[in-house]
Amino acid sequence: MITSHDSPITRFAPSPTGYLHLGHLYAAKKAHDLARQLNGTYLLRFEDIDTTRTREKYYQAILDDLAYFSLSPDHPPLRQTDRLPAYHQALSELKSLGVIYPCFCSRKQISEELRNITHAPHGPEGPHYPQTCRNLSPSAIQSHLDAGDIPAWRIHTDRAQELTGELYFTDASHGKTKVNHHLLGDTILARKDIGSSYHIAVVVDDAYQHITDVTRGLDLLPATHLHRILQALLKLPTPHYHHHRLITDASGERLAKRNAPLSLQTLRQQGLSPEEILAMI
Ligand code: GLU
Repeated sequence: MITSHDSPITRFAPSPTGYLHLGHLYAAKKAHDLARQLNGTYLLRFEDIDTTRTREKYYQAILDDLAYFSLSPDHPPLRQTDRLPAYHQALSELKSLGVIYPCFCSRKQISEELRNITHAPHGPEGPHYPQTCRNLSPSAIQSHLDAGDIPAWRIHTDRAQELTGELYFTDASHGKTKVNHHLLGDTILARKDIGSSYHIAVVVDDAYQHITDVTRGLDLLPATHLHRILQALLKLPTPHYHHHRLITDASGERLAKRNAPLSLQTLRQQGLSPEEILAMI
C-alpha cells in the first residue's frame, strides 16, 4: 500500500539571516523542480535556530522572493525555533547511547591546543577538534557544572562508528557513498548557547517532514556523512540526496549573504523579470 509518507517530498531550507541571493534561488528551484518532476510536494523550512543571526524581516522577504519566482511552497513553512523540544529530545537519546560528550573548551583553548599538535587531523571544515574533553572524569565534569559552565556536546566519532557499523547513503550524481565517520571529527551537535545545532535540527526535521529527497549544495556533502550517522543512531529514515553545484560570482567565489549586489531584492529592484534573473543561474 502506498501511504502518504511514501510520496516524494522535497524542501528548501534557508536561514533567515539575510536576503536570498542567486545561490538560494538555484537551491529553491532545484527542490521545487524535483518535487514537480516526481509529482510530489515541495516544502519550505526556516532554519532559524541561531537566533543571534536571524532577523524577523527576512522571513517575509524570503516568502516574497519565492513568490516572485513562482517558487512558493505547497504548505505553510516550518520554523525550527518551534521545534526545539524535538531537538533536545534527540540530544538526550544520543546521550543515553553514550555517543556524545560534554565539552567545556573555549575557542581560544581549542586553537591553543591545536597549535601544540604537529599533525592535527584536518577535515573539509578545517582542523578537527583535538578531543580534549573526550576523557573528562565524572568529577571533572561535575566541577565544571558546579562552576556554572555550560557545555557544548560533541559526537564521539569512534563510539558512533562502533554502534552504527558501516553506513551508506545515495546521491543522485555520486551514487552509493560510504560514510566516513571521521570526516568532520568530534564535531559539535549542541552549541553552548542554543543547545542544538544545524546537524541535529536538519536530521530530526527531515524525518518529521517526511522528506524523501534532499536537494542541497555540494558544500554540504561532508555534513551528509554526519547526518547519515545521526539517522542511524536515532533510527530515522534516510532520504535520497541530490547534491548540486554552487553558484559562484564572476571571480569564481561562491555566493554568500555578504554578496549584496547579487541578492534577489537588489536584482528585483533593478526591474529584472523573474525570467531574466533565472537566466543568470
Ligand atoms: N540551511 C542550509 C543552508 O542554507 C541548508 C540546509 C540543508 O539543505 O540541509 O545552506
